[in-house]
Amino acid sequence: MDMIERSAPLRHAFVIVRLGAHDGLDPFRHRYLCLRCRWSFLVDARGRVAAIDGAGRPLADAAAARRLASFADGPCPGGSRRLDAKIISIR
Ligand SMILES: [Zn+2]
Repeated sequence: MDMIERSAPLRHAFVIVRLGAHDGLDPFRHRYLCLRCRWSFLVDARGRVAAIDGAGRPLADAAAARRLASFADGPCPGGSRRLDAKIISIR
């Protein structure tokens, strides 16, 4: 049995998607999707973060607060789930 000792919480492993042009109505510019736990966040040009569900709707207060607390440093609820992601270049 392999054991991994962690001294810090596991952070999210984000894919970051740049959203469409800022139209003044929707200030969010990037969507962060964690490959491990599938939680999503919207981040605007000022660095403000909102937790969203899979359909892109903002979460209610308690769920949103729990997710927002994990955004920068974890913990990612995906735990030690193995990632088989490839890094690709984008233009
Ligand atoms: Zn995660």
